[in-house]
Amino acid sequence: MPEGGARDALIIGAGHNGLVCAAYLAEAGLEVTVLERRAVVGGAAVTEEFHPGFRNSVASYTVSLLNPKIIRDLELGRHGLRVVERRLANFLPLGEGYLKVGAGRTQEEVAKFSTRDAARLAAYSEHLEKIADVLRELVLETPPNVTEGGWLEAFPELLRSARLGKRLARLDMAGRRELLDLFVKSAGDYLDGWFESVPIKAAYGFDGIVGNYASPYSPGSAYVLLHHVFGEVNGHKGAWGHAMGGMGAITQAMARSAAERGVEIRLESAVREVIVEQGRAVGVITEHGETVRARCVVSNLNPKLLYGSLIDPSALVQDFRERMQRWRCGSGTFRMNVALAELPDFTVLPGRTTAEHHTAGIIMAPSLAYMDQAYLDAKAGGWSKRPIIEMLIPSTLDESLAPPGRHVASLFCQHVAPVLPNGASWDDHREEVADLMIDLVTSHAPNFKASVLGRQILSPLDLERTFGLIGGDISHGVLSLDQLFSARPMLGYGNYRGPLKGLYMCGSGTHPGGGVTGAPGHNAAREILADFRRRRLDRGRSKGS
Ligand SMILES: Cc1cc2nc3c(=O)[nH]c(=O)nc-3n(C[C@H](O)[C@H](O)[C@H](O)COP(=O)(O)OP(=O)(O)OC[C@H]3O[C@@H](n4cnc5c(N)ncnc54)[C@H](O)[C@@H]3O)c2cc1C
Repeated sequence: MPEGGARDALIIGAGHNGLVCAAYLAEAGLEVTVLERRAVVGGAAVTEEFHPGFRNSVASYTVSLLNPKIIRDLELGRHGLRVVERRLANFLPLGEGYLKVGAGRTQEEVAKFSTRDAARLAAYSEHLEKIADVLRELVLETPPNVTEGGWLEAFPELLRSARLGKRLARLDMAGRRELLDLFVKSAGDYLDGWFESVPIKAAYGFDGIVGNYASPYSPGSAYVLLHHVFGEVNGHKGAWGHAMGGMGAITQAMARSAAERGVEIRLESAVREVIVEQGRAVGVITEHGETVRARCVVSNLNPKLLYGSLIDPSALVQDFRERMQRWRCGSGTFRMNVALAELPDFTVLPGRTTAEHHTAGIIMAPSLAYMDQAYLDAKAGGWSKRPIIEMLIPSTLDESLAPPGRHVASLFCQHVAPVLPNGASWDDHREEVADLMIDLVTSHAPNFKASVLGRQILSPLDLERTFGLIGGDISHGVLSLDQLFSARPMLGYGNYRGPLKGLYMCGSGTHPGGGVTGAPGHNAAREILADFRRRRLDRGRSKGS
């Protein structure tokens, strides 16, 4: 049993989910400490100066999935968070011409390529929205857990399953077919079924491969597309926006909210080991050699990192250990931040003063076939010869990020191999691939290369070293059917608990997965508080939890 003086909860990692979990636990009266390895909170949702005078969201770069309930409960607005919408959602420079996607604009833009497709857009959105609504309802739910115990353990899970079944039963047969399509099909097959013109399929198909090391024709990529549309900005469903001050403004607001509720956050305090006594997690040892004991330990880390690196293997049964080793991670993502002397001047839409397309997510990938080839190249040689890039220039919406007249851009580049073939190291190829990315943007905007004043390069290996994202995986594990919902991170442990008593998971490796949602942190806190109430977690004091 934990000894006196122990904290109620100790959270490993101050990523946004760790902070959300901490805030909810503290709100319920628990004494909570968060230990973070880096010198800044936020994990992959962080704003940093990457070049003198230039700040950016250096990893995740755009907001939509952050759950409105969490924004309200943590009072993130009062703690300084303000999210603004882009003036245009997406801009795709094509070989000839361009496509703009955005509220009230898409139909007339798509009609340039196909009047049939333009006429089908409303029905497409309606179908997708119907399924996205189902997902939205499930995001803050704990998935039914597959149990091995007797009916006492199984009964609550059966009730959960019945509630889920009831929700799905609200879908008519067409809706159920759509749901099946979106969970198992490829994004490419799904979109080919709807549209005939190439650019709109590229615009929507990008969501199926973003952060997903796969071809748009890989089965399961339609789910990834769906995963990227369940969010909203200021009540506008499916929209993506910008957090003023960058993604770090979200996590700074969360940290303030948590601190106000009494959470202690310690930076530069990496955890080296979780202490397990008689099958129960009772605290941690930090890299500095300090022991911190707690009634429960909550991990914000990729589950493979938690169970593979922080826990004595003898504390875990072999089957669990081996399955965790097989947890699939790796995003195919290469991330750059660039300081710019001026805005890119696109051949297909000239201009160096801020226009709506400069505020958009600029997708440089003109077709699904191009994306498929990018994946095949990366599989064969380690990176795409013609990569896929989404460029965002947040300084067009937020002057706080760059000196007057200058700009910052995020380049979210796909596809690269999470681990290079033939034993090659990203340390030897980082600059070469960064040059390729700059050249690709320059092929669309000829002034781009000369305008670069500074650049930060994050290969998959750098993302792993800096943020603890294994293989650069932006979601702490691939979003595939075998790694979702009750199976995230493993069948039998889909309810934020693991095989060791007192050890919980609250990061993106749990339901509903990656993205700056706050949902895993929110849901994990609910389960932990339920265990405190059921006295599964010993508590010396009698604060109302
Ligand atoms: C390049 C990139 C682009 C992305 N773009 C977007 C986007 O635009 N929009 C979006 O919604 N999502 C995006 N994502 C995904 C999203 O950012 C992540 O899924 C999410 O931030 C993960 O949050 P988390 O709290 O679960 O984990 P993390 O943010 O990974 O937090 C885990 C924390 O644990 C800490 N830690 C690790 N090891 C230890 C240890 N031993 N001891 C103590 N602390 C430790 C880490 O330093 C980190 O702070 C992107 C991710 C990346 C990498």
